[in-house]
Amino acid sequence: MVQSAVLGFPRIGAQRELKKVTEAYWSGKATVDELFQVGKELREKNWKLQKEAGVDIIPSNDFSFYDQVLDHSLLFNVIPERYSKYNLPAIDTFFAMGRGLQRPATETSPAVDVTALEMVKWFDSNYHYVRPTFSKTVEFKLNSTKPIDEFLEAKALGIHTRPVLVGPVSYLYLGKPDKDNLELEPITLLDKLLPVYAELLAKLKEAGADTVQIDEPVLVLDLPAEVQAAYKTAYEYLVSEAAPKLFLTTYFGDVRPNIDSIKGLPVAGVHADFVRVPEQLDEVVAALSPSQILSVGIVNGRNIWKTNFAKAIDFVNSAIAKVGAERVIVATSSSLLHTPVTLASEKKIPAEIKDWFAFATQKLGEVVTIAKAVTDGTESVAEALAANAKSISARETSSITNDAAVRDRVAKITEDQARRKSPFAVRLAAQKKALGIPLFPTTTIGSFPQTKDIRIVRNKFTKGEISEEEYEKFIEKEIADVVKFQEEVGLDVLVHGEPERNDMVQYFGEKLNGFVFTTNGWVQSYGSRYVRPPIVVGDVSRPGPMTVKESKYAQSITQKPMKGMLTGPVTCLRWSFPRDDISAKLQAQQLALALRDEVQDLEAAGVYVIQVDEPAIREGLPLRAGAERDDYVNWAVESFRLATSGVEDSTQIHSHFCYSDLDPNHIKALDADVVSIEFSKKDDPKYIQEFSEYPNHIGLGLFDIHSPRVPAKDEFVSRIADILKVYPQENLWVNPDCGLKTRGWTETRASLQNMVDAAKEFRAKY
Ligand code: GLN
Ligand code: ZN
Repeated sequence: MVQSAVLGFPRIGAQRELKKVTEAYWSGKATVDELFQVGKELREKNWKLQKEAGVDIIPSNDFSFYDQVLDHSLLFNVIPERYSKYNLPAIDTFFAMGRGLQRPATETSPAVDVTALEMVKWFDSNYHYVRPTFSKTVEFKLNSTKPIDEFLEAKALGIHTRPVLVGPVSYLYLGKPDKDNLELEPITLLDKLLPVYAELLAKLKEAGADTVQIDEPVLVLDLPAEVQAAYKTAYEYLVSEAAPKLFLTTYFGDVRPNIDSIKGLPVAGVHADFVRVPEQLDEVVAALSPSQILSVGIVNGRNIWKTNFAKAIDFVNSAIAKVGAERVIVATSSSLLHTPVTLASEKKIPAEIKDWFAFATQKLGEVVTIAKAVTDGTESVAEALAANAKSISARETSSITNDAAVRDRVAKITEDQARRKSPFAVRLAAQKKALGIPLFPTTTIGSFPQTKDIRIVRNKFTKGEISEEEYEKFIEKEIADVVKFQEEVGLDVLVHGEPERNDMVQYFGEKLNGFVFTTNGWVQSYGSRYVRPPIVVGDVSRPGPMTVKESKYAQSITQKPMKGMLTGPVTCLRWSFPRDDISAKLQAQQLALALRDEVQDLEAAGVYVIQVDEPAIREGLPLRAGAERDDYVNWAVESFRLATSGVEDSTQIHSHFCYSDLDPNHIKALDADVVSIEFSKKDDPKYIQEFSEYPNHIGLGLFDIHSPRVPAKDEFVSRIADILKVYPQENLWVNPDCGLKTRGWTETRASLQNMVDAAKEFRAKY
């Protein structure tokens, strides 16, 4: 019998129970027992859900109160001294590492003030993990019994689980050395770490685990030779009589370039992501020994679309034809962590479209059905197959998915449309004349503080409690206030402040054809922060102007240039669930054409500075160097240029990027007149140097918008002076790191005033 397997299930709860209890715990409104109780209930619910769905191989230890990688750091005692020195209860040390901790001294405990460990993107997903940080004093030891406890917890419920661990090579490679030890290569710690893994595995076996899922996702990255070689060392050491069987899992990509690292490992089986890379089947099969099992990741853990059963069954059958049914498992491609919990709570999505989706809970049924189909024959699941085929074909032929006019317009895109009329130097001269912008121009990135007031009124409007007219009045007043504020502070290029926007992608999605929204489709982004990505369901087009009214109004009440504010095609796509039936490139082109019309409408309305934000451009970069990555850079750049090139030379196009290490070459290719990048926390002089050759104008973010701290004028002055050592003064803009939406007004005013005063000082000098 072909078994079904799930690699991990969302832990946040169908009603975001995890967020509610952790935040309550942090603010002192829930006790630690309440916190643990909710965790326990969530685990129990998830295991039972999977059991009832008929899943054969159910994971445990996929639960976490913050992040599963951080769990391992606690588990192996990878706790830098700045955290351990406080001797906090383990759960508080854990949260302190995840999110920092600042609290005053009490009678019984000293003051605590420690920042969080670095948080980084989990491969190419929108999940972020807490980076293991190895200091000189690291002393690996088994510091917790979480995986064993959770295994036993499930066992007590009568559910035999397969515990999930991050494998030792991935755990080390995903980490970094701490500040005290910068030359350390974490992989060199492998020999010291392995005995602790062995001890843990032995305990799991004693508890009754027969197999452990050992995640080695770094196998889909370009790995240095010493990391490739570490697999043999690690798994020859760990596989033993005393340990449960190990099932090696990879996901999110292609393992072929590292296939030699997998070959010959004494593991029980290998899991690969065949949703992402179906072409790797032959080589993965060839790497297995005759006794090793192949886990076929075929139900997408990263998206919300129903699996096409006919295709998936064919694929699994082709695997069975190669290795035999007794050696195949049907599985989710990755953990289901990246999908919303359940479709059941979505009441607002039109039934026709809802029928195209499968969220995590629905995906459980999918793996089970596919496994049954390949075991007992398709007749055994005839009804499910028929319903699936009907739904797939309804989606394929729906007028929502296929808009002939949009396709036709994309087909007619010309190269010229993605090129400005003149080169930058010519544009710059025209812009100088038209806009009258001084040297060291000051501006902001778009949003201003989004007070409770704004959110309340926006909600009232969404719920229909206030009229459109009342709402518009309110927004105009907010815009007027923000404009007046900026004039008082003395900024040069103003913004309208984005009070009408809940979110920079959702706002546009709601105004475009082709998107739908969930009411409860939350996905964990990091810790207690969850996002609710819009879903691209069909060809995208713009029924009418999206931002013109607000920007035009804002421009009408000031003499200073007003900057229109749009979200770029790549960011709209990356922060949504994209379609899986057409390429990302085609979706980006459709978005680009819609934005192009908006850009031109803004220009026609007298808004001559337009910023198109692309903060997500970096995260879409394919994990490996090579053709796929080059292709991505090409279409990402082209779609931005398509969106922004329809304007006159005298109209100034801005763009903005943040929260990633950027490649200046990618930014350069966009040919925006001005870019602003997050910069205040970049202290690597190489990074400044790299951007010093940026040919157009650039604003290197001068203060951190995540912190209420107000930098003094002198701090701005010395920062600008540092930049000017390598950077030509006539190209430099002066701005914060990113939008000010999450800040309060007091620190916003003070910081911007100091920033503007510093710019004026330089302006006077040159
Ligand atoms: N214009 C947006 C804002 O200021 C940009 C946000 C972002 O880059 N994440 O809020
Ligand atoms: Zn930003």
